[in-house]
Parts: sequence; structure tokens; C-alpha cells
Amino acid sequence: MNLPEEHCENCGKAISRRARANVFGERVLCTPCYNKAKNELARREERDNRPATSGQLKFLKDLGFSSVDNFTFDQASSTLDHAQQIRYFAFKIARQEWGLDLTGSDLRPIVHVAFNDSAMRDRIYNTMQQVHDAAYERQSQMDAANINNAHYEQPFIGDVEPPLNPRDPDYIKVRAGLIALGFGRKPGIITRLANLLR
Ligand SMILES: [Zn+2]
Repeated sequence: MNLPEEHCENCGKAISRRARANVFGERVLCTPCYNKAKNELARREERDNRPATSGQLKFLKDLGFSSVDNFTFDQASSTLDHAQQIRYFAFKIARQEWGLDLTGSDLRPIVHVAFNDSAMRDRIYNTMQQVHDAAYERQSQMDAANINNAHYEQPFIGDVEPPLNPRDPDYIKVRAGLIALGFGRKPGIITRLANLLR
């Protein structure tokens, strides 16, 4: 009786019937591929489980995240990334609405409200990814157009970012949060009257 020949699902090599066919997850692999896959998995697990660094913990605590001591490196990194994007979202709204520079201002209450609402957190994160992508795109177009211009200086990324959409519900929420924190200008009586009469 001839058993059908098996092939490694990674490299395609025929696995002789005398050799051991190794099942890795749902795949049948030859021994070298199996060993490689096993080592990669071990390395990945080690990487995924490494603890957060002291620098990450310090940044997290500065942002007001208190119970983070057991965070892994990846958890810390993702939390920091999302919190920073929310902070920058609020920062950008203040600049766009009132021409205010909130560098160094305490925006933690806004960061926490948005961060703890996972849907809002993800939406703001995606919005900011789009803003950054558009800015990089614009920056590289300007670089390309100026390739032979000796006096050309690359524009700052913040200067080529598209504005945020003021009708976006997250924008409206964060804007209200900024006003509640005392940032931003409420319209004066004249402006309010003018708006009423418009
Ligand atoms: Zn193989």
C-alpha cells in the first residue's frame, strides 16, 4: 500500500514517509520549518510578555494612568499611543477654534474621558492617523516639487496638516470639554447678539 506523499505546507518540500510529519497549529511542516516556527513563536511570546519599561510607566503616570504597574510593554505602548493621539486631537481643536497653543496645558480630564470610551478612543485614533497620513503625503509632494530648489526648507508636519472637521461629534464633545476646563473663549455679548440677529 502506498501512502500519499505529504508536503510541507511552508516550503513545499516532500516529507518522506519515514520522516516525522510535524503538525504546527493546523499546518503540516517538515522538521526544519517546524523548528523555525516553534522558535519564532517562543520569541514572539517572550516579546509580548516583556514588562513595560520604567520610561513608559513614568509617561503613563504623567498622563494620569495610575494602575499600570503590571502593564506589558505592548499594553503600555498602545495606551500611550492612543492617549497621545487624543491629547493631540484636543490640542489641534484649541488651535483651530481659538488660535490657542495648549502646549504644556493639563488636558488629562479630556484624555481620560475619551480614552475610557473605547469607541471614541478608536475613532479619534483613526481620525488622527488620517490627518498624519495626509500631512506626510502633502509634505512629500512639496519635497518632490522642490527637489532642485536650494533654498527649500521642508515644511513642519503640523503646518501641512488638514484641519479637523468641526461637525464631527467627537470634535464637538472635546471642544465642549476644553471650554469646561476654562480653555477657549466663550463668545462675548456682542457676538452672541450678532448670532441671534443673523
Ligand atoms: Zn518545510
